[in-house]
Amino acid sequence: MQESPSKCIVLLYWDKTTWYALGALTSSLQKHSLPYEIIRGDPLPQIRTKLDQGLHVIYGESSRITTIDSLKGRLQLINNQISSPNLLLVIGGPHASGAPEKILKMGADYVVIGEGEATFPELIQTWINNKFRYERLHSLPGIAFRDISGKFIQSPPRPRIILDEYCPYSDNKDFALHPPIELMRGCSFRCRFCQVPYIYGNPRFRSIETITKIVEHYVQYFKPLKTSVDIRFIAPNSLGYMEKKRGQPNYEALTKLLRRLTQYEIRLFFGTFPSEIRPEYITDKILSLFDMIANQQFSVGFQSGSDRVLKEMRRGHSVADGLQAYDLMVSQGFTPVFDFLLGVPSETKAEQWQTLSLIRELGKKAQTRLHYFMPLPGTPWKNSSPALLSPEIQSEIGRLAKSKIIMGAFAKQFQIAFKDK
Ligand code: SF4
Repeated sequence: MQESPSKCIVLLYWDKTTWYALGALTSSLQKHSLPYEIIRGDPLPQIRTKLDQGLHVIYGESSRITTIDSLKGRLQLINNQISSPNLLLVIGGPHASGAPEKILKMGADYVVIGEGEATFPELIQTWINNKFRYERLHSLPGIAFRDISGKFIQSPPRPRIILDEYCPYSDNKDFALHPPIELMRGCSFRCRFCQVPYIYGNPRFRSIETITKIVEHYVQYFKPLKTSVDIRFIAPNSLGYMEKKRGQPNYEALTKLLRRLTQYEIRLFFGTFPSEIRPEYITDKILSLFDMIANQQFSVGFQSGSDRVLKEMRRGHSVADGLQAYDLMVSQGFTPVFDFLLGVPSETKAEQWQTLSLIRELGKKAQTRLHYFMPLPGTPWKNSSPALLSPEIQSEIGRLAKSKIIMGAFAKQFQIAFKDK
């Protein structure tokens, strides 16, 4: 028999860069009747209040490389200020999944590795059933922890979830969360700088039927609140939706999806933030579908102006593919917003100039978000050092930024990239 969850509360930390993950997580907690609250700011008073009420508290947070410093600060603060057997600190998200030991060292009790929708509620329910003792938690798949002797243990991975079985939003009246709808998870490519395929594996897709039902809910929810209902998606490669073969867009499925959704009174944003498109998926035939979409700008991963660097990255496309996407899009009145990545391992100064010259050239009709390589945990390049940027290269980046040809968090990424080195 399951113990009642009424003596426990899950406090989930809200951050503007990680909150999308909380949609699916809270929906899953709701399904398991596990009470939760979303908290912001200083977590200490909020945790204390709940402990003072006699509750067992699970503090949960999703992590990314950009939140790691603040997460460390929060874990230190909580561990220094609160010593209670009734408090469990659980961290998930891409950074924790790729570097679980590091997160445990920072002070977490458990790390949820990979997909939290299934693991997180099960971890909590097991803690409750186990009368808030830890031992039985250790047999759960998809987690990392330290055993009684302090040894790092990572349990076997959990089988990948079926997206259709998990709802991506929560309509809890006090803590409703409606992030962009995740169309697909995982990726069929294996870029060496990217965490997606190494954490989530090959792509799995949410079905058109399920997406339609979710959109219907968003329309119902937002129509009384907003003048227009904007629908956005999360997809590492939007045009790869339902692809049967890597590199070949499934035109029929994309048509069916977009046609179905345009029946609703919505503004449909597709292939734009927080999604991306690979350049070789852009063809005349595919562009003909964009009439059904509200956005005129599309996020396209171009990544480098050097074919050698693209090969090193294992991108699986060439500079010519990027240029063709540019020509096709611009000729039909669309604006590509290209993502470029500078500073990848082994990149030479000449190759960096190739990328920057290309960005300047494309800047006449396209926009660029410039990124600096950060070695992400869980990727093949996790231990690689970024290539340095000469003063001349840095000056050119400054000029491009001043001319508004490039955007993005380049300076912040530059700092993060060297932090642990
Ligand atoms: S960068 Fe994009 S295409 Fe490459 S592995 Fe990541 S998600 Fe896939």
